[in-house]
Amino acid sequence: MENELLIGAHTSAQGGVHKALLQGREIGATTIQLFTANQKRWVGKPISDEELALWEAAKEETGISHIMSHDSYLINLGSCKEDILRKSKQAFEDEITRCHKLTLSYLNFHPGVATEATEEACLETIVESLLAFEQHVANGPTRLLIEATAGQGTTVGHRFEHLAYLIERTKHALPIGVCIDTCHIFAAGYDLRTKQAVKETFDTFDEIVGLQHLYALHMNDSMKPFASRRDRHANIGDGEIGREGFEAIMQEPRLKHLPKYLETPNGDTKWPEEITMLRSFAASKART
Ligand SMILES: [Zn+2]
Ligand SMILES: [Zn+2]
Repeated sequence: MENELLIGAHTSAQGGVHKALLQGREIGATTIQLFTANQKRWVGKPISDEELALWEAAKEETGISHIMSHDSYLINLGSCKEDILRKSKQAFEDEITRCHKLTLSYLNFHPGVATEATEEACLETIVESLLAFEQHVANGPTRLLIEATAGQGTTVGHRFEHLAYLIERTKHALPIGVCIDTCHIFAAGYDLRTKQAVKETFDTFDEIVGLQHLYALHMNDSMKPFASRRDRHANIGDGEIGREGFEAIMQEPRLKHLPKYLETPNGDTKWPEEITMLRSFAASKART
């Protein structure tokens, strides 16, 4: 359906990447996110031709679109440690290769962790890392999306200014953009609890980064309080953001066309319910 909302979840690729699409269909998703390789390992297996054939068939069969990969948790493109940076760049290059092979729309990645370096130095390293992929990214259809973070520890990407800096420095060379995680930005200090707060947060994003650079959202409620800089996902309506906040997000016209992916706990049982809930929020009459 042309006007169908793009709502889904991070489904499981256990047993093959095509399984993520099949689980997507089971939970009523119109889009999905997946890991194209083991997210806790440095070296991922390439996609075989056999896997690719199953993938293409499942894609056709399910009609799921705007598919996004989430990169390995180990990758730190802003590392100040030479060996970690080298391994990160190799793993990211392999990730791009898999995304291209699967013709994925987006590759969502965590920008980086500063550890012993300053945030500025970390951001600079991320820019250098990204620019090195210019040729490789150009070989396929996948856009790189920087995930907004909660700012745990020395993680960068928790200020809209960080995201703006990375975009400004790389957009001439690469297809790049942002994925906002609602739990992360709330924990980072951008309020989403009311209709007014949602409006103001996205006004601020538009001023600092520009909404034209926003391509996707991770839809997670937050177990931890506002501005706590702690990243713990809660089910929609059960956390500190709450039902009213998600209603406002779903009714925000500037976000309507964007794909939205749940990364909430107990997905097997909760996702069908949460997808239905988000769709009903979008359809219900906007509150004033
Ligand atoms: Zn996320
Ligand atoms: Zn998170």
